[in-house]
Order: sequence, then structure tokens, then C-alpha cells
Amino acid sequence: VSPERPKRARRPTRIEVAAQTDVGSVRSQNEDSFLVGDQLFAVADGMGGHAAGEVASALALKTLAGVSVDKAGAVEGLLERFREAHRRIRERGEAEDRLRGMGTTLTAIIADDEQAHVVHIGDSRAYRYRDGVLEQLTTDDSLVQFLVGKGRLSPEEARKHPSRSILTRALGVGTEAEFQAVTLDIQLGDRLVLCTDGLSTFVSRDQIESILHRIPDPRAACDALIRRANEVGGDDNITVIVADIVRGSG
Ligand code: MN
Repeated sequence: VSPERPKRARRPTRIEVAAQTDVGSVRSQNEDSFLVGDQLFAVADGMGGHAAGEVASALALKTLAGVSVDKAGAVEGLLERFREAHRRIRERGEAEDRLRGMGTTLTAIIADDEQAHVVHIGDSRAYRYRDGVLEQLTTDDSLVQFLVGKGRLSPEEARKHPSRSILTRALGVGTEAEFQAVTLDIQLGDRLVLCTDGLSTFVSRDQIESILHRIPDPRAACDALIRRANEVGGDDNITVIVADIVRGSG
């Protein structure tokens, strides 16, 4: 062991991340936004006419950006930023006519060496891909998901339902917002995936799983997922983040 060896603690894992957003093949504006930090990842899908959705999703991510990634307070820190973003979007929407009624989805992850903390509202999604299996970590706040929960629609029927874009909750909409929060373990080889409904509506769960299985490079996997969504529809903006837990360097 050389005495010059850097004192920096050896980390067993690190995160290799790729992110991409695409306007899709039909729309002219992109109301999706994403945020990528060392340990913080988020996607937001804005809604509201005349660019209001872009304002809402950007405001959500701007509010989220300074959150502390401290292990002990990650979930509470995220929840606090979600509440703050909810308040800011509502106030901007009330103050400016052209922004009235705007809102956004927001799905965020803080990851450390052992755990991922997910906080969520709306119908964007977080997944963990492990050992060939894609597991959805969030539940869509949507009318069709409510009907899936009641056993009245299958997930595949929900994906193709004409009312699939009706949300039951969104950031900036309504007086009180309720958020989902989940903490899960992560390990070497896991892939965390965040996406907006422009991916999950057009590309089935099995297809997403198969692309993640086939393409180990996160950048190439992002590209392939977005390409697939555009091939089969592209009737929406598409945003994907792939964050791989890989071997750390000493
Ligand atoms: Mn969308």
C-alpha cells in the first residue's frame, strides 16, 4: 500500500446515469423536464395550455434541485420540496391567467450506496430493474390505474384506454397534495429507471424489460427506449433516465 494513496473512502458502487428527453413525433412542444445530479434524479411531465406545462415542470425541478441528499433525511427532504413545489406552482397559476390550472407530475429518486428513496405524484414512473425483472416502484395517480386497482381494467387495457391521461393527482393542482414515498434497497447490477408516460403508454412493460436486458450501456438503453416509443406512436413527449449501479473505483 503506497503512503500516497488518496484518503478518499473507497466506495463499493457508483452510479452511471444517462438521461434523454424527446419531443416525440407528433407534438411541437416539449412539456417534460428532467433533473440529473450525482445522487438525485427526477422527471416531470407538465400539463396546461400554451406552454404552461413547461413552466410547471421546470418550476417543480427547480424547486427540487437544492434538496439535501443526506441519507437520514432523504425522504423528508424530498417531501418538503414536493410540498414547496406544489405551493409555488399553484400560486403562479393563480397569479397569471395564461398559467391558470397548470400542473405537473413529479417522480424523484435519491440514491446512495445501499438505498433508493422515491417520492412521486402523477403518472410518470420509477422502476427498478434487477436480474432481468422490471419492477414498478410507483403507482400511477390516474383514473385508469384506479380502475385497475378495482379489478375493472387490466394494466394492458389501461395503457390503451382513451381516458388514460386523466390524472387523479398532480403537483400544483388542488389545495392538498398527497405524495407516495418508498425506500428500497439497491445493489450492484441494479438499474433505476425514471420515465414519463410518453414511454410507458407506448412501450409495454415487457418491451421496456427486454430493452434493458439487451442493452447494458445506459446511454444506448435510453436511446433505444425513446426510439421504440417514437416507432409505435410518439404522440407525446418522451423522457427517460437510466441510472445503473456499477462497481465503484477506489
Ligand atoms: Mn406525457
